[in-house]
Amino acid sequence: MNNFYINNQNKYFGGFNRSFSEAKFIIFGVPFDSTTSYRPGSRFGPTAIREASANIETWSWRTEIDFEDVKIHDLGDVSIVHGDCIETLKRVKEVIEEIYSYKKISIMIGGEHTITLGAIRGLKDIAIISFDAHFDMRNEYLSNKFSHACVMRRIVEEIGREKIMIVGVRATYKEEIDYVRKNKISYITSNKINNSKINEIINEIKDFLNNFEKAYISIDMDVLDPSYAPGVGNPEPEGISTSILLDILNKISNKKIIGFDLVEVSPPYDNGITSITASKIIYELCCSITSNIT
Ligand code: MN
Ligand code: MN
Repeated sequence: MNNFYINNQNKYFGGFNRSFSEAKFIIFGVPFDSTTSYRPGSRFGPTAIREASANIETWSWRTEIDFEDVKIHDLGDVSIVHGDCIETLKRVKEVIEEIYSYKKISIMIGGEHTITLGAIRGLKDIAIISFDAHFDMRNEYLSNKFSHACVMRRIVEEIGREKIMIVGVRATYKEEIDYVRKNKISYITSNKINNSKINEIINEIKDFLNNFEKAYISIDMDVLDPSYAPGVGNPEPEGISTSILLDILNKISNKKIIGFDLVEVSPPYDNGITSITASKIIYELCCSITSNIT
């Protein structure tokens, strides 16, 4: 017998794992990408993000918290049926529902954006802020009503148009923007963010959040400019920077946030930066929420 052994530290997000009962945050992956229309591969997102997360430093300057002090438990990945979106959404819903029944904050790593619908169904009576280059409000896409391009439209139909805000949006087409305006859906474009004082944007999002008791944050990685996050399913120019996204997230995080997700990282198109940035966003958001609940 020699001294070599398998180093399992990449298995868990952050490289360590608290017990379920001790944890405040429960993280899990959903490696589903069956409706991807352009650059497939987000099914590999959870694994790539976990690996990246075990290889970055843990101190958060915004909050003065070390991520190693954040109480987080990694459940692993939800077993999904490739090609079966309805079944995947059902499983995501049940997992999130159970996590919430223990009064813990769920963190879901995608996978494609469609899985957010399952999370919203599990949490019930919740508002959502989606950081995304896209509205994802097509009625159907490629003859499919349950697709990454339609997920926010389905959510509007299920929870109501007043409970949703899209931040960082810049890519749409006529029928979709007509729907958004007709239904008076709240949104902030990336152009407005890049040309305004950051506090004005933060206040606009806070004003929206003030209307609700509970909220969920969804981060489609393509909200970032492709220069910051090249490895995504549908890259769009003229996005926001990582620092601006993190500053906004830091200021809007509070007790109301009972779950968040990070979706659409596509490792086959990544040079490594997107997965590292995704890990960093999860670290910072956990630290921000922790600093506001303790
Ligand atoms: Mn999206
Ligand atoms: Mn998008």
